[in-house]
Amino acid sequence: MQNLIEIKGVSHAYQTKAGPLPVLNGLDVSVPEGAFCAVVGPSGCGKSTLTRLVAGLMKPDQGEVWLHGQKVTSPRKTVGMAFQNPVLLEWRSILENVMLPLEIVAPGMAKSDREARATHLLEMVGLKGFEGKRPSELSGGMRQRASLCRAIVHKPDVLIMDEPFGALDNFTREDLWQTMRDLRAAEPFTCVLITHDLRESVFLGDQVIVLSGRPAKTQYVLDVTLPADRKIDILYTPEATEMLHVLRDQIRIAQGRDGH
Ligand code: ADP
Ligand code: MG
Repeated sequence: MQNLIEIKGVSHAYQTKAGPLPVLNGLDVSVPEGAFCAVVGPSGCGKSTLTRLVAGLMKPDQGEVWLHGQKVTSPRKTVGMAFQNPVLLEWRSILENVMLPLEIVAPGMAKSDREARATHLLEMVGLKGFEGKRPSELSGGMRQRASLCRAIVHKPDVLIMDEPFGALDNFTREDLWQTMRDLRAAEPFTCVLITHDLRESVFLGDQVIVLSGRPAKTQYVLDVTLPADRKIDILYTPEATEMLHVLRDQIRIAQGRDGH
């Protein structure tokens, strides 16, 4: 399988008043096409920086980022993004919000086709009947569902999510995980998910990458050898429990707290 994302030896430092702040230090990450890559690591280690590099919003000081066989040197329209706070436009309906990327990426597409695509996605995530509502009329979980639809409506090469479920309560979050898996079963796409929830990383991921503390590099890669057809109960199996233990240990090492 060809790797959709190749991050090779990427190092980056922010220039701050107190001098350079090294954030990434020779980071290597490979994500095969169609795979779901979860990334975990200590707070402040450079995870959000990594998402900006993959999206082409920033250039690394050293190293290279490749997407679909092309070196990333500028912002990519073929990257979908979702964040902890869904940035939906209040003056647009939910349907119009989801259609927005198509207006930008596929201006020639007939309005009826754009509507059909957005309506289909909203139905898949359980928002049928809410198309005409404004964002403020929806719950946080529903807004995040709509923002997921908007992030994939134009069929990007990769969906990058930076802690998208972090602000939701536990039950809503688990519902969203299932929705995410259902979406990918219906319409496969490559994903990079930044999260601090280890259960989330194991439930959603094909691989989990543990980053070291700042400046981050790849510390550990876990292959999630669970069946593709997962329901939430799978997290209670001995296999999943073992993986969660391994990840917890690795995070403690990344935080410099192993053995204490
Ligand atoms: P994470 O998402 O893993 O918490 P970030 O990538 O957001 O980490 O940030 C890594 C480090 O870089 C943090 O210490 C943060 O304060 C710092 N940082 C992030 N963005 C900037 C910036 N634009 N200028 C200076 N420092 C930054
Ligand atoms: Mg972050």
